[in-house]
Amino acid sequence: MFRHPQKTLRTVGKKRRGTFRARVERLETRQLLSGAPWLRLAADAPTLEERYDYFIGTPYATDSASAATALATGYKTDEGNVAWLPGDPNTGGRGDGGLTTIAEKLRAERGFSIGVASTVPFSHATPAGFVSHNTSRNNYTQIAHEIIYTVQPEVVIGGGNRNWDTKYISAADQAALEAGATAYTYVGRQTGVDGGDALAAVAATVDLIAGEKLFGLFGGAGGNFEYYQVLDTPGTVSITQGGNADNPTLADTVTASLSVLGQDPDGFFVMFEQGDIDWSNHANNYANMIGGVYDLDQAVRAAEAFVNRPGDRITWNNTLMIVTADHSNSYMRLLQWTGKGDLPDNIAKTGQTVVPGVTQVSYSSTNHTNELVNLYARGKGANLFENVAGSWYPGTQIVDNTQVYHVMCKAATKGVDHIILFIGDGMNIEHEMACSRERSRGPVGRPQDTGTVYQNAGCRQGPDGNSEGGGVPQRWACTESSKN
Ligand SMILES: [Zn+2]
Repeated sequence: MFRHPQKTLRTVGKKRRGTFRARVERLETRQLLSGAPWLRLAADAPTLEERYDYFIGTPYATDSASAATALATGYKTDEGNVAWLPGDPNTGGRGDGGLTTIAEKLRAERGFSIGVASTVPFSHATPAGFVSHNTSRNNYTQIAHEIIYTVQPEVVIGGGNRNWDTKYISAADQAALEAGATAYTYVGRQTGVDGGDALAAVAATVDLIAGEKLFGLFGGAGGNFEYYQVLDTPGTVSITQGGNADNPTLADTVTASLSVLGQDPDGFFVMFEQGDIDWSNHANNYANMIGGVYDLDQAVRAAEAFVNRPGDRITWNNTLMIVTADHSNSYMRLLQWTGKGDLPDNIAKTGQTVVPGVTQVSYSSTNHTNELVNLYARGKGANLFENVAGSWYPGTQIVDNTQVYHVMCKAATKGVDHIILFIGDGMNIEHEMACSRERSRGPVGRPQDTGTVYQNAGCRQGPDGNSEGGGVPQRWACTESSKN
């Protein structure tokens, strides 16, 4: 990912309805490029691309909880619901409204080990949507408790350590983790200790076959790993892990997670979330966004390297890797190409003050948008996306977010033993291109070997019904504007 095709940037206008024209992508139509590992589909969607009002209308965009639910269960649900049916049926048991997630399904049916890792709190909406069930994403301590004591994924790594932010796990539950009184081998953030090294060292002791599990509890103030530091150094790339190295990088969580989950001869499902991209976009913080996309890119590369390792049972013939987003955010547009290492001039070097008259980058929102997001797939089963692309959106190659769930289910019946799902929270192609620009040079994207199919994470397009196999009355995941 993040290796973009040559493209024509025809973004004109910003807030003038009717004059906006989005990028027009001209990718080769539906084909697997010879020699290129990533699936690549055409992504024309002119009827959507020109609809600025649709993109930006605040009632339309999904939040991370309902989007995670769609990806994890195949059901669209109300905003804020975590793997729970719309309308919040709830008379005291999960059976009322709790939805079986892809992780739980593959564990039950295939004996897969399961894991989640995130740069934001482990009990936050996106990981929660894969390994917990709740009528509200805001019930962080309930969600954390269910993850630790009920669902018990084999691997959980994320932010939310109470020593830095107390919202995301109860004191009793963190104390139990620290005391070794749970099912987990625990590693937590310690001041002055390299988080990536500590995580790797503890992961190396976890014997999955013996029933051991790994829990890594990191994070800083605000719950998330510290943002990267991205400096305005034209001609030179300067992107470094922010704060200190007490937190792991997302790549560190990938290597640690896969070293544990990869022990399972039956296979595994794992979801990795780069959550800082979304938080940065809410703040219209361009530099932090670049750092988040960079972190995600490094993590994807780490996962690819893990699959590429010789001498184990994990290969591209039995592994499906997906990289996508849950929704977009901020309607950011890089209006002029900036150079390598060069932050846009209307972004203050230390923050976000817009310099009047300089318009290299624009933001039109501090909230989620209904822009299409990219979806990349590599490995066994990647071609299954070809079968669903456009089926809900005739004339396009768009995949609905609920269809991602169905593709993962089908892949697991067709020889895929390892599913690695990356979610760049709040990321769309503009953010990916901005990061590519920051890291390379030239007026166009880098020569690409990357595939992309647009995924509609929104909630107002498509037929009024779940995609195949849903079986529950449809309710779109959008009743109010999203905050997280
Ligand atoms: Zn958000």
